[in-house]
Amino acid sequence: MTGKAVNRVVLVLTVLSTVFSGVVLRAAQRPNIVWIFSDDHAYQAIGAYGGHLADENLTPNLDTIAREGMLFERAYVGNSICAPSRATLLTGKHSHKNGKFTNGGPFDHDQQQFQKILRQHGYQTAMIGKIHLSGAMQGFDYWEVLPGQGRYINPQFITEKGRNEYEGHSTDIITDRALNWLKNGADTSSPFMLMVHYKAPHRNWQPAERIAEKFRQRTFPEPDNLFDDYSGRGTAAHKQDMSIEKTMTMRNDLKVVPGSKRAEYLEKHQPEGRNLIRWKYQAYMQDYLGCIAGVDENVGRILNYLKESGLEKNTVVMYSSDQGFYLGEHGWFDKRFMYEESFRTPLLARWPGVIKPGQRNRDLVQNIDFAETFLDIAGAPIPDDMQGRSIVPLLKGDRPDNWRNSLYYHYYEYPAVHSVRRHEGVFNGRYKLIRFYGMDVPGGEEWELFDVKNDPSEMQSIYHDPEMAGTIQILKAELDRLRKLYEVPENGGLDIVRKRKSGGGSAGKDKLNFSFPKGIVPSASSPYLVGRAIELTAKFNYANKDGVMVAQGGASHGYALWIKDGCPQWSIARDDKVSTVSANKKLAPGKQILMVTQTKTGSVTIKSNGNDLATGKVPGAFIEQPLDSLSVGMDSGSQVTSYGRAKAYPDELEPVVIRLTK
Ligand code: CA
Repeated sequence: MTGKAVNRVVLVLTVLSTVFSGVVLRAAQRPNIVWIFSDDHAYQAIGAYGGHLADENLTPNLDTIAREGMLFERAYVGNSICAPSRATLLTGKHSHKNGKFTNGGPFDHDQQQFQKILRQHGYQTAMIGKIHLSGAMQGFDYWEVLPGQGRYINPQFITEKGRNEYEGHSTDIITDRALNWLKNGADTSSPFMLMVHYKAPHRNWQPAERIAEKFRQRTFPEPDNLFDDYSGRGTAAHKQDMSIEKTMTMRNDLKVVPGSKRAEYLEKHQPEGRNLIRWKYQAYMQDYLGCIAGVDENVGRILNYLKESGLEKNTVVMYSSDQGFYLGEHGWFDKRFMYEESFRTPLLARWPGVIKPGQRNRDLVQNIDFAETFLDIAGAPIPDDMQGRSIVPLLKGDRPDNWRNSLYYHYYEYPAVHSVRRHEGVFNGRYKLIRFYGMDVPGGEEWELFDVKNDPSEMQSIYHDPEMAGTIQILKAELDRLRKLYEVPENGGLDIVRKRKSGGGSAGKDKLNFSFPKGIVPSASSPYLVGRAIELTAKFNYANKDGVMVAQGGASHGYALWIKDGCPQWSIARDDKVSTVSANKKLAPGKQILMVTQTKTGSVTIKSNGNDLATGKVPGAFIEQPLDSLSVGMDSGSQVTSYGRAKAYPDELEPVVIRLTK
């Protein structure tokens, strides 16, 4: 070997060993990330955020994260609903880019997701709890997720090896499983990303019994606009189906069951009108905030473990939710709207030695930023096609000069449960411009404009104020710019805006005969099913097409009449178990009267034009009223069962007739 060659080898070895030791050194220093995420956690229900519940001392542990780290006052989502928000969390992209527009429909797990990249760069990745995206998770060394919405009590988990069930409350169990992974599953020689995702405080708000008892004694302050009449806003706010007054159910939501204290109170005092709304608000808050207290206790368990184990020093802890929620503001519960309570989401971060304690940040942050932030913390590369920005500079107190000045929002899930119209909009930190589209008005659009500084509760749209013309022009240009920046297709890529047809029938347990045309029926107007026999008739001209004829509820409680490969199917869900009675004869083409009967003991017959097609047995009558709306010609919202290739029924249907027997 010549001297030159030897020198070259030595040089190469030196470079290699420098790179190698550099990697080892960095790996040892890279921080762990614990991402704690809840479902529907309103920022108003975190003490550190202030607001009408600030004095209730609901969240001492979350307040600790805020005190020791940074609280984001202006963290927002891009589409305020569960599954799409989670798709954005994993992909760092808006809904139109990751393909998850609504709670229904599949998520493409094969696409790029931050955890796959983290894992390639030496992080262990684990996901435990609710993800609400059907199909096997990818990019996680370990995952254990609730099926769909999951159960509050004795939850089941899907894993790579099958299903497990644990006894207890989901918030406690999810923490147990996460701590179990930290103690026994994680390899402490390399950094980790642990995602702990609670089901709580999602509807129907079931706190652990130890907490529920205490909270049922409490009374909470009301928001100022509990009795909003929507006079300052357009059609969408008037026509929603998410009010405490009309939509919130006594039995399922507020657990008013015979013999309960709540039932006794109502029996004795018979509150009406505003007093009844006030009573429902209190019962709602007792249950919802009880769930929050459970989440907070469990956040405390995680913080304690990090401290005891010594992991705390090199672990970033972040807390957020898939979106905000209405706690009686505008008379509502639920989410979906671009109004502040649901558009905003809580975001807290603690990073010892990096984030100075007690910071409150007011920059515009959005859930498209989370994926890039995780990658940035890990020192992993950030793909160009992710659409957010890492907030690591903000965490370090170092705001980039070119930080964004506006946010884009787009909500798609209509027609569907809660009847919130499709809309998109732009928010610049002061003014919020919203375009509702697919409306039954000339031009098909309604616009609203709010000055969030002077009207923080967004009670009065000033879109028609002549003085706002200049502001509107600037905001419309900004909306256009954002649509181009994020490459939003026309109407967001979902071009089927089906016209909503109003359903017949009215709320009330005494009504037994119903007729509903194709479309969505608000849950308050759908038949009350508990304990009843049902007879359901669908009339149509059959042309060999599959689809869902009628469905109410979801995979927890509900039913669906649908056609698969030409054969009628009757599926009923009770307590997360689905039973199906299937005809194995195909329908004959032509005029069709399809009738299903189900007795109180669960005997089912399916008839076509008066002839028996199938008989069978399901476990019995409905034991809980389904949460979701009734839909004719489709299954909107969460699905009763997996329909495979059968989707919305494509042809005309005469109004479906439903008869109940008490
Ligand atoms: Ca949610």
